[in-house]
Amino acid sequence: MKITRVETFALPPRWLFCRIETDDGLVGWGEPVVEGRADTVRTAVHELAGQFLVGADPLRIEDHWQLMTKGSFYRGGPVLSSAVAGLDQALWDIAGKAYGAPVHQLLGGPVRERARAYSWVGGDEPAAVRDQIAAQMEAGFTAVKMNGSGRMDRLPSTAELNEIAARAEAAREQLGPGGDFAVDFHGRFSVAGAVKAVGVLEPYGPMFIEEPVLPEYTHLIGRVTSSTTLPVATGERLFSRTDVLPALQEGVAVLQPDLSHAGGISECRRIASLAEMYDVAIAPHCPLGPLALAASLQLAFATPNFLIQEQSIGLHYHAGAELFDYVADPEVFRFHEGHLLRPTGNGLGVEIDEKAVRRADGSAESWHNPVWRHPDGSFAEW
Ligand SMILES: [Mg+2]
Repeated sequence: MKITRVETFALPPRWLFCRIETDDGLVGWGEPVVEGRADTVRTAVHELAGQFLVGADPLRIEDHWQLMTKGSFYRGGPVLSSAVAGLDQALWDIAGKAYGAPVHQLLGGPVRERARAYSWVGGDEPAAVRDQIAAQMEAGFTAVKMNGSGRMDRLPSTAELNEIAARAEAAREQLGPGGDFAVDFHGRFSVAGAVKAVGVLEPYGPMFIEEPVLPEYTHLIGRVTSSTTLPVATGERLFSRTDVLPALQEGVAVLQPDLSHAGGISECRRIASLAEMYDVAIAPHCPLGPLALAASLQLAFATPNFLIQEQSIGLHYHAGAELFDYVADPEVFRFHEGHLLRPTGNGLGVEIDEKAVRRADGSAESWHNPVWRHPDGSFAEW
């Protein structure tokens, strides 16, 4: 079997799919994208495919991964690691279809029958937090995640800390003691500011605090982890085992590798294994589309130290498309009591509606995250 063609599709709301075709007629799909840099990643996908994949045997996944990540003198970073990630997902999809098995079966077989998942709630105001959590509980979820704050001074004021606490209090009241909420800081604070903000959240017992500091300060995250009893999470902006190692050494409790950013199933599997050596759980980041979620689930079902899965249904960034729009059989993402059930289809286990994908290709407005400024006019982290 040989790879004959690699195509990419830019799709609303902000996604990029890749499709690898073989001379055996088998087709694999993946989702290589950096939110806000889809066109850049698309170029990288075609460069890598032309250089290393077209004409090659798709079943040599590890050898392809080695060449795609190390075959160029300059390597790593979000763009290249995300391009590799989507191609890696598509190669695993082909392998599963060729061997007649779900990817998690090829990774050693299932270690669980259902995977807990959480939904996003935005909710800038405590009242909105309550309403949105109530809606997610109504939909059957037992866990949610929300932003800890809006634009933040690097050292939060007492008034800002009170707002952070009020949101958390509203979340805890709505969920009761049996539900879980996580709080995402998006690196909006300085290290010292994060220590202050985590402190006010302790009484409300969030499941974890995410990205208390920016990824470039991961070597300092230990100041946060050692200041609190709350579990600290990070990893959506770390792209390899090398990148996550300082976080593990500095005491994070949860790693959040993104299957579409951190080298795909191949590297995220190894990141999970490395995390096990630090008694750290993984909660794969996934605010993306159906292929990223399908790849995440394949890892979840084969990984002992999996904690919970992010998923993007109804995510506030979505405009013009939703998770199921490009899927022929949405039943594959069946939710039951806050969990996703184990997919049984071969490969990634999701059947793509190719007509819908080809129809939507190129219709995406290019998505970029907002650029924020402080009241004094200087740049503020989003
Ligand atoms: Mg996050």
